[in-house]
Amino acid sequence: MAEVVRIAIQKSGRLSEKSLQIIKNCGIKFGSDARVLKEEASNFPLEFLYVRDDDIPSYVRDGIADVGIVGRNEYDEQAIDLEVLRDLGFAKCRLSIAVPNDFVYQGLSSLEGKRIATSYPNILGGILKARGVSASFVQVSGSVEITPAVGIADAICDLVSTGATLAMNGLREVESLYTSTAVMIGRKQMASVAKQRILDRLMLRLDAVMKASS
Ligand code: ATP
Ligand code: ZN
Repeated sequence: MAEVVRIAIQKSGRLSEKSLQIIKNCGIKFGSDARVLKEEASNFPLEFLYVRDDDIPSYVRDGIADVGIVGRNEYDEQAIDLEVLRDLGFAKCRLSIAVPNDFVYQGLSSLEGKRIATSYPNILGGILKARGVSASFVQVSGSVEITPAVGIADAICDLVSTGATLAMNGLREVESLYTSTAVMIGRKQMASVAKQRILDRLMLRLDAVMKASS
């Protein structure tokens, strides 16, 4: 059987549409029907796996996919040692500290001894440690912005793109700690020479597409 490169793409979410679009812009034809789990391009040796974004780094590590498109935040949080092949530039967001409107915030030191709700304890932990602040984390996987109102956290650290959700929950963004965009990740070493050649061809097209749109 001829070799193909498998790319893992978020099935449904903020990364999905632009991930598919960038591959289409490379002149690669496929159905982009995310109701299926897997499909193959008709004019390029590329196979798509549609999965949850959280699963993408481990799928690439385990060889279930050869490459994947994921938010840098998710990749960094999981601390799985892969290669960032390209920064794709879309899905830009920031990981910020937000506090209730009546919280007196004078910098990260105001978080000393506080409870911070986040889905990114590793990234946040690294940043606070580097700045000498010790706080406790309340790990939540969604609806982070309601945690101060329900009394389980004093502040939150969450992804923000516009800030509208924060305002709706009586919170204000006080400090941005980290910015993220979508990245293409892969293993340091491709599984075969044939796969590496296919990936090189894909990257050549991708670079041309990114250059044309920059
Ligand atoms: P899945 O069901 O695949 O697990 P999800 O709910 O975890 O999806 P999305 O909300 O679709 O994920 O976000 C995917 C990625 O989009 C984030 O990890 C982040 O890199 C990026 N992103 C861009 N803007 C935002 C934002 N305002 N809030 C959250 N994520 C954002
Ligand atoms: Zn997810």
